[in-house]
Amino acid sequence: MAEQGTHKPLVASSNLALGTHNPPKCGGFIFSTVFVKPLAESFPLQCGTSQIYPSALTTRPMRRIYFMQIQIDKLIRSKRRTMALIVEHDGTLTVRAPMRVPNAEIDAFVREKAAWIIRTRQKMKSVIETTPKQYADGEKFLFLGSSFDLKLVRPQRPSLKFDNGFRLSINAQKRGEPVFTRWYKERAFEIITERVAEYSKQYGFSPKQVKITSARTRWGSCSPNGTLNFTWRLVMAPLEVIDYVVVHELAHLRVKNHSRKFWRVVESILPEYNLQRKWLREHGGRLTL
Ligand SMILES: [Zn+2]
Repeated sequence: MAEQGTHKPLVASSNLALGTHNPPKCGGFIFSTVFVKPLAESFPLQCGTSQIYPSALTTRPMRRIYFMQIQIDKLIRSKRRTMALIVEHDGTLTVRAPMRVPNAEIDAFVREKAAWIIRTRQKMKSVIETTPKQYADGEKFLFLGSSFDLKLVRPQRPSLKFDNGFRLSINAQKRGEPVFTRWYKERAFEIITERVAEYSKQYGFSPKQVKITSARTRWGSCSPNGTLNFTWRLVMAPLEVIDYVVVHELAHLRVKNHSRKFWRVVESILPEYNLQRKWLREHGGRLTL
């Protein structure tokens, strides 16, 4: 597995030309947003996963930012061939790098992407700031891609029920988050298990088991022993998006990395998977309480 570095460089940038790439955002896998440095012929390799995808590169006007400091919160070195930047929900910056890349080169890469890091942090912040749930009457909650109203009702069991809308016991309002989380986890297990079984039967995959996680930055992953993990947050997304993540992880049972061969397996099952990937990159940040 990945070796974690202790090196925490402070990167100061003075007059650098910035922002020549349009980085891919990964709902990171919600979503962490990821920027992968395009090296050689490579598609970024990462096991299990979320959201690290090859980027479409576009040219943008050059900008200069002065006196900026960006701290690397976590540096993970592993046997990968590319460098990747991951901005987590809370704004922390993780850098993944090949074993032997010098620190100076990592610092330079971060410096070069400073504008993107700042922009991404601002986006994350706005996502977080716009969705603090109060568990109040009339509030909207997502399920399978649609938004449903919450209605507070007299005490009932279970305290949260769904019938084309959410009904929460008034006396459970203060425990809204754990109550909703539990409900989403149960639905996630039912729905995702069913989708995994369906695709496995149809395309001959043999996953060991399905586990539901609370991951924030990974929609799914595939363990070496064949266990598929999915975050409960996925059931907030449309079914086609869930199917894409399911097929993505199933495909890892055949191809561990994100090589062209891997994407061909995904495409052979879901020819339009790119639409779902795009959806996750754009909306994955909303899949939270
Ligand atoms: Zn993957």
